[in-house]
Amino acid sequence: MLAGKEREASVELVAHLAALDARPALFAAAGHGSLFSYCTDVLRLSEDATCNRIQAARACRDFPMILDLLASGAMSLTSVRILRPHLTPENHEAVLARASRRSRREIEALIAELAPRPDVPSSVRKLPTATPAPTLASRQPAPPFSSPPPISSPSPPITTRRPIVETTSPERYRIQSTIGKESHDKLRRLQALLRREIPDGDPGAIVDRALTLLLEKVEKAKLRAAAKPRPRAIRPGADRQGRVPRPVKRGAWRRDGGQCAFVSGDGHRCTERAFLEFHHVLPYAQGGLATVENISLRCRGHNQYESELVFGPRGASTVREALQ
Ligand SMILES: [Zn+2]
Repeated sequence: MLAGKEREASVELVAHLAALDARPALFAAAGHGSLFSYCTDVLRLSEDATCNRIQAARACRDFPMILDLLASGAMSLTSVRILRPHLTPENHEAVLARASRRSRREIEALIAELAPRPDVPSSVRKLPTATPAPTLASRQPAPPFSSPPPISSPSPPITTRRPIVETTSPERYRIQSTIGKESHDKLRRLQALLRREIPDGDPGAIVDRALTLLLEKVEKAKLRAAAKPRPRAIRPGADRQGRVPRPVKRGAWRRDGGQCAFVSGDGHRCTERAFLEFHHVLPYAQGGLATVENISLRCRGHNQYESELVFGPRGASTVREALQ
């Protein structure tokens, strides 16, 4: 009874996401640059659950009969996720009929039949498989004379091999990942070099310093690359193609804090920081200039959304200048 209700809610959500996926303007208007951020910010789904449901939603858009199979309980979200890459317009009816009400193992056997793979070499990674993966410190053999400083305190057994970033308490996050020997050696060298500043060699403190430096470097490089000199000279604010001069990009980037600056009617600001583009607030085609005042950061979704508001769904007049 409860399981049935949960399934119903889950299917409703997948159907809702499939509908939204087809009309990105709906979540864009509410201040969300992607279906992904809509799911995590508004629906409060975990990143894992979001991926699962968006994949299922897209599978339902491509093959609507999947929605009925989910609704009747004949197929689970997981089955849909693993089957989806093997479905084609030609085979989907037959494959879905065979997969319905089957266990995961049976579905995996079905996939193996659809897409036979060569045997994988028996040793691809240097990781133990039967026992929980050891912590970074215990995997390293101790040097003969002195034991290395601890790299991490004992952590709970690792249950997945994917990198993990999870919130442990407000403003604290646990990152768990496997690194190769080279990275490990670099960490050791940094621990030694930073012994005075970070006496206990805390990897978290070193990662923080590394991230700060890398972020600074990448942001600079991206802005430089985005502002490479064009073949023709560009006068600030007066370029005939609507291209954005470098100082303007820098100014807009700083003012918007490297984040999409779209704000919905009810005041929600978009949280996207990836694939940002320089957006003309007053469109270039309507005389808008490439000045700091008229240039604002937008994620891809919002640049597209606002361009469609002005020029319609097929409007190609928008100036799309991406940062990456
Ligand atoms: Zn956005």
